[in-house]
Amino acid sequence: MNDIACDVAVVSCPDYDPAHVRPALEDLIARAGGLNWIRPGMRIGIKANLVSAMTPEAAATTHPALIDALAAIIRERGAVPVVGDSPGGLYNAAHLNKVYAVSGMDGTSAELNRDFSTRALELPGAKICKTATVTDWLLDCDEVINFAKLKSHGMMGLSAAAKNLFGTIPGTMKPEYHFRFPNPADFADMLVDLDEFWKPRLHLVDAVLAMEGNGPTAGTPKPLGCLLAGENPHRIDLICAGMIGLDPDTVPTLRAARARGLCPARREEISVDGDWQAFVDKDFEIITQRSGLQFQNAMGGGRVGALYSKFLSRTLAARPGVEKDECVGCRKCEGICPAKAITMKRGKPVIDRAACIRCFCCQEFCPKGAMKVRRPPIARILAR
Ligand code: SF4
Ligand code: SF4
Repeated sequence: MNDIACDVAVVSCPDYDPAHVRPALEDLIARAGGLNWIRPGMRIGIKANLVSAMTPEAAATTHPALIDALAAIIRERGAVPVVGDSPGGLYNAAHLNKVYAVSGMDGTSAELNRDFSTRALELPGAKICKTATVTDWLLDCDEVINFAKLKSHGMMGLSAAAKNLFGTIPGTMKPEYHFRFPNPADFADMLVDLDEFWKPRLHLVDAVLAMEGNGPTAGTPKPLGCLLAGENPHRIDLICAGMIGLDPDTVPTLRAARARGLCPARREEISVDGDWQAFVDKDFEIITQRSGLQFQNAMGGGRVGALYSKFLSRTLAARPGVEKDECVGCRKCEGICPAKAITMKRGKPVIDRAACIRCFCCQEFCPKGAMKVRRPPIARILAR
């Protein structure tokens, strides 16, 4: 355990100027318990968010200035920082070299992971994901630091600390996990299982330039000007949700963590070092996933509640929809859809609603941001 006095630390970091980043990161880490657990010779895996080959300005990936500063801090302690991730698509040198180059990782002082082997293993104590195939490189590190990016997310509502460890599943296998866990509640439980398995020593979140709207890859950069840290990813995410005005009940990972006693329901029950409310953005554009579970709770649970929930979930849940004017017909969504719910007609994707499992892979990986998260009109009316 780290020697921490708070659940979540928050510090100001106005931009990615190295002159601001280094002192902000040092202050943040000190508030979150420090790094005295690092010993010379250790390999420290930095699990960044490198969701796709996108430039730092797009705000989809952890900023290289932060990775560079963290790597320098780790090296000063005599350890070796190794950065990596498994984005969607092929998990091999050719793809990752491109991601490292475009995201700016190859300009940092961290060693770039070049071990693209995977390992199938059991996750002891897992609730729903008892076996998984994961990327090997983090298993070979002595400790892990999770360095996430704060973004809105089509399927999960929020991408921050807890969601980031889905990047330990090899990119080519991610669709399989969406298929294994098509329900957002189950998918969230799988993510919490991964978080519990990896148990990073420290979680950091880059909210200097966050992403709002059509996240996690096609949204709009939005400056929040802060960094967050802590030992528990869900408590950090609860504060992140508060910053962007997201109801915690609409974030499946927060619900799953709460059910396991890993996170309280209310932000007031979390000790925060730093004035997180100074970074609240009331105009942050979020994607609300109003799940049927909420309505089931409203019905008091039970069989009737479950049936009602299923009906409401189908009727009200957000779904992907293509903006035809923005679509260039590249067929990437068709290829990535785990449910094979997309076919191309006259050069544009058409979604089979009955087959769609609402995983939002098509939205996440559309290179033009043409696939949007849409809410049915009745859901928009009810949300008001
Ligand atoms: S991935 Fe995007 S641009 Fe390509 S066909 Fe699908 S919607 Fe169109
Ligand atoms: S259409 Fe999109 S959201 Fe639906 S299953 Fe396919 S990839 Fe997932």
